[in-house]
Amino acid sequence: MAELIIFDCYGTIVPAGDDPNFRYAVRQGFHRLLYHYEDDRKMAVFSDADKRTLDFCLLKVGLGRLDAYNEDHLTLERLKNLAVVCSDFEVEPSNSVFIGDNYADRDRLSAEQYGVNFIQIPQYRLTPISENDRKHYEKWLIHDDPRKPWSFEELIGSL
Ligand SMILES: [Mg+2]
Repeated sequence: MAELIIFDCYGTIVPAGDDPNFRYAVRQGFHRLLYHYEDDRKMAVFSDADKRTLDFCLLKVGLGRLDAYNEDHLTLERLKNLAVVCSDFEVEPSNSVFIGDNYADRDRLSAEQYGVNFIQIPQYRLTPISENDRKHYEKWLIHDDPRKPWSFEELIGSL
């Protein structure tokens, strides 16, 4: 059981930042997942966006109450320093899980670097990815099936 759940933001909770149709939409099932876990788990968001952009985004989608880590907490290699989050919440990395779309393979590498469990989910977009980007990104991204978009409900009860 994960005592601490850390979420990536763009492509995970809200649409990927390069989605031409970007708007402040929360992925299906996310509010239900929060409702399910919020009382007995610790939770945070970690994005490589700058503080202003991230805080504004979370406020816009009604998630301003979540602790948020931003680009100020990246390593020199632009990995997410998940050790800081674990330390702030006083949870061992092995009892923590990071959930992300793995843009540029950074979510996986960040989790690996700090011994945090990792769950990769399909990238959330409102507009299908272009053919060019699909080829370019397929090394590390899982593409969502627009006919049956992935939902956070899949993780309810299993974290
Ligand atoms: Mg992302």
